[in-house]
Amino acid sequence: MNAAERGSYVPTWYTASMVPVPARPPLTYDLDVDVCVIGAGLAGLTTAREIARRGWSVAVLESRRIAWSASGRNDGFVLPGFAAPMEQVVSRVGFEHAKALWALSEMGLRYVANTIAEARLPGVAPIAGWLKASKVDDGDQVLDDAQVYGEEFGTEIELWPTERVRDVLKTNHYFHALHLPRAFHIHPLNYALGLAELAEAAGARIFEDSPALAIDAEGVRKRIATPSGRVRAGHIVLACSVHLGSLAPRIASTLLPIWSYTITSAPLGPRLAAAISYRGGVTDTDLANNHYRVVGNDRLLWSGHTTTWEADPRRYVRRLQADIAAVYPQLGEVEVEHVWSGVLGNALHRMPQIGEVSGGLWLASGFGGHGINTTAMAGNILAQAIVEGDDTWRLFAPFELVWAGGRVGRAAMQVLYRWVDTRERLAARAARQREEEDRRVAERAALREGEHEVDVEARLGAVVPQAELPAEPELAELPADSGAASGAAGGARARGIARRSTRTQGRCRAFDRPRRCRRAARGAHAGVRPKPSVRHSGRAAIAARAGIHNHRQWLWIPGSRAHAAKLAQAAYTCLRCPRPGMMSENLRGVVQPRHRDRWRSPPLAARQEGESLEQVHVLLVLDQCAVQRRNELFRVSLA
Ligand SMILES: Cc1cc2nc3c(=O)[nH]c(=O)nc-3n(C[C@H](O)[C@H](O)[C@H](O)COP(=O)(O)OP(=O)(O)OC[C@H]3O[C@@H](n4cnc5c(N)ncnc54)[C@H](O)[C@@H]3O)c2cc1C
Repeated sequence: MNAAERGSYVPTWYTASMVPVPARPPLTYDLDVDVCVIGAGLAGLTTAREIARRGWSVAVLESRRIAWSASGRNDGFVLPGFAAPMEQVVSRVGFEHAKALWALSEMGLRYVANTIAEARLPGVAPIAGWLKASKVDDGDQVLDDAQVYGEEFGTEIELWPTERVRDVLKTNHYFHALHLPRAFHIHPLNYALGLAELAEAAGARIFEDSPALAIDAEGVRKRIATPSGRVRAGHIVLACSVHLGSLAPRIASTLLPIWSYTITSAPLGPRLAAAISYRGGVTDTDLANNHYRVVGNDRLLWSGHTTTWEADPRRYVRRLQADIAAVYPQLGEVEVEHVWSGVLGNALHRMPQIGEVSGGLWLASGFGGHGINTTAMAGNILAQAIVEGDDTWRLFAPFELVWAGGRVGRAAMQVLYRWVDTRERLAARAARQREEEDRRVAERAALREGEHEVDVEARLGAVVPQAELPAEPELAELPADSGAASGAAGGARARGIARRSTRTQGRCRAFDRPRRCRRAARGAHAGVRPKPSVRHSGRAAIAARAGIHNHRQWLWIPGSRAHAAKLAQAAYTCLRCPRPGMMSENLRGVVQPRHRDRWRSPPLAARQEGESLEQVHVLLVLDQCAVQRRNELFRVSLA
């Protein structure tokens, strides 16, 4: 890294809107102080300010510029709590201890609010409110959280129902939300720069472009070497986050670096307010994805995606644009003006590392993605500990320095993030589909009285002319199933249906066939005929006789329109709710999403005009759980 790089900020929306500040000169002489703080991020700056305010001499060494890293590039949400979920904290240290920690984290939030208000820091623009929106329709869970944080931890918190959330965030992606009215968001770089001025006003000296190259923490007076000057101090505070590196390699190895990516849009004008009228911060995940807020009147600041290795932030522009488009498609093309990355440090337990490592050597690090309040908290705790001998910092002692696993740890964490992210996205999609299906069911219920059966079928989207159905699987492809033969009550009618269905055998399109079916198709081309269905027993045989072919995921039933409507009805009744949480999967099955568009067009009514009734089929796509309940469906539909 050359001097020019060290002396400049990475361009972000924050640097484009930062207050004018002079560059602080590097340390070029030897200095004797009570405390040397290494690192001028939020942790180092708060510690220095609070020590200076208590009358001790402090020098701050910063290898580049004040808050050039995470402290000046984060999302700016000032929230209570820690990066670690509180249930994890409770299970590690017990409820009363966790409650004391939570109170400290709230103290950190208040410290930031008071500092901004009392010093009237310019350009920080605090705006109240934070909304943690749920992407899955689990009101009970959100209510539980609200009770825990509100009643147990004493935080002011509101539970917003879906309608209220969607009133201010115009998207069907969100359901219930937790609202923290006392949380707020800020311009973090301007806050850090203001904090630096306050620290200097209290007597601290800050040296930029002054990397600490080595420390000697033995003895009463400790030594710190920089390229062109040395510091002697009674105490050293390491506030270097993931940049600590070779200065203290063993401590450095206890943090996992995590990069996250942020964009700000060009001004979006009134369409932004039409989509997002809430002015606080919004988060819709426990991961790094989708943290956003409106900045500069009509710009959208949006961050997301995590990597445990640094990547070029420009590679994430499209992905972040896609994330925005998924949640707010009405915004249309969102032009991006700034993109940057930031790196945070997480310990494995995701709690901050605060305390005395050895006599006079202190650590304030590992604040993770929850660092604005917790760095303020840490600065106060350490200043009290160093100057007044206070031992509040021992509350963090259970969260020890644990090796974070090196490269393997990073790789494992990357895989874990991907997995959790994918799981979250799937759960969110399922929740939206469930909601859509619920809406359709409600519509159907409303239509039941007095409406034409054909209309009901059309709304279900489940009735498909035979010509448009994907190829029917060979009977031999049906899974052998030794289940009970209790559903054999299909009777003559069922056999009739079976006769019609056999006419469609033999067609096979690759896209809608599982591997077994494709193998069978290859076999058929080679002149090998699949074995007839009579070889099958149990439920599969019953299904075959009834003309119902369960193709692992989908089930189709040829018959008259009257029969089709009845079956569709039965599908809703039977498959709806086998056990909580599976409802969406079952309902999703009514129309296979992959082919939905193809099946819906051309308009059903037009297609139906010239059709014989015999050519109508009902296609149901079943998930594993629904498959297990298909016997019940058969009984109802064939009764
Ligand atoms: C993208 C992103 C979004 C985030 N959003 C939020 C949010 O909305 N709310 C929230 O609360 N938290 C958020 N965070 C987390 C928060 O920003 C951090 O936890 C916090 O800023 C950490 O502060 P710090 O002072 O410990 O570290 P840093 O800001 O990384 O500062 C460490 C400083 O130490 C200096 N340093 C390192 N080694 C040396 C050395 N040898 N000599 C001299 N100087 C040295 C570095 O140059 C650096 O300036 C976010 C983080 C990221 C990356």
